[in-house]
Amino acid sequence: MTKKNSVLLLFTGGTISMAEDPANGALRPINFERLQKLLPELKQTGVNLKSIPFHPLVDSSEVDADMWEKIARLIEKHYDEFDGFVVLHGTDTMAYTASALSFMFENLTKPIILTGSQLPIGMLRSDAKENLLTAIELACAKNEVGAAVVPEVCVFFEDELYRGNRTTKKNAEHFSAFRSYNYPPLAKAGVHIKYFQSNIRYPAKSAKLRVRTKTDNNIAILKIFPGINENTVRAVLGTPNLKALVLESFGSGNVPQKLWFGKALKAAARKGILIVNKTQCSTGSVEMGRYSTSLNLIDIGVISAYDCTTEAIVTKLMYLLGENQSLAEVKKLLKTDIAGEMTIIE
Ligand code: ASP
Repeated sequence: MTKKNSVLLLFTGGTISMAEDPANGALRPINFERLQKLLPELKQTGVNLKSIPFHPLVDSSEVDADMWEKIARLIEKHYDEFDGFVVLHGTDTMAYTASALSFMFENLTKPIILTGSQLPIGMLRSDAKENLLTAIELACAKNEVGAAVVPEVCVFFEDELYRGNRTTKKNAEHFSAFRSYNYPPLAKAGVHIKYFQSNIRYPAKSAKLRVRTKTDNNIAILKIFPGINENTVRAVLGTPNLKALVLESFGSGNVPQKLWFGKALKAAARKGILIVNKTQCSTGSVEMGRYSTSLNLIDIGVISAYDCTTEAIVTKLMYLLGENQSLAEVKKLLKTDIAGEMTIIE
């Protein structure tokens, strides 16, 4: 007799778990039992499903590093018991959670699929059913030798499976809410699920799973705009205990050449604050030195985020600063693609 597939569902909250509060029409969480009633198809999947609901279920705006750690440790605890893992999560910060988990799990051999929905599960036209049922199928998909087809942390939404640390929520209205601008999908779900093998990352053979969850949130994002004020820049860079700054630059990594701006960055870099250059564009990569407006950044020691998403670079910094003692090591790993999060231009 062949063994039944098994999937652990971690139920964290989000729209997928919400219904309207009759008192004021606001969306509020429902419990897992109600979700099962609303989705009887879960029982028909033929998959052994175990669920762990979080208490309380939260809107993903409430998710922070403690929640990432909780998700990671639960998966680690049950790693050997299940073929794969599905994390039901609000869409607003799903890309951050997926990115953080992708760094926390080293040598992953099983799928961790995050999904949610744009419409609450209780609504007639909800996208929750398709998203959840397909995510479960993806989480237990195996190849001819019994290994997981997609041993990655992924986001499944509408009909595409993406590498989690390449995703961004791009739409607050449409069912197709996510996009992976700089990396192709890992699979597409239509009549059949089509996997794009060459896009999928596989761990080195026989490498042991390592889960590391320490983070440090002493980082800031500075999105520049034409005419940005010196006081604002100095205030952000003067944040007590600041360890790293994500500088959201223009185009291929360009910034204004005002004297005070360069000086402020240089002073921060001298104090040991890491500065990472992330383009405000969704598609394409930072290429410092392409224009003279980014040449001084190289001299200051600013590090390129290449084509990373903001979600990936923020969580990578949090992870690296939490797990590494030495600044040199953090710098080295920032320039390294550690979980498929960026494409390095030589
Ligand atoms: N505000 C919700 C959340 O992120 C939105 C959603 O789930 O789609 O939890």
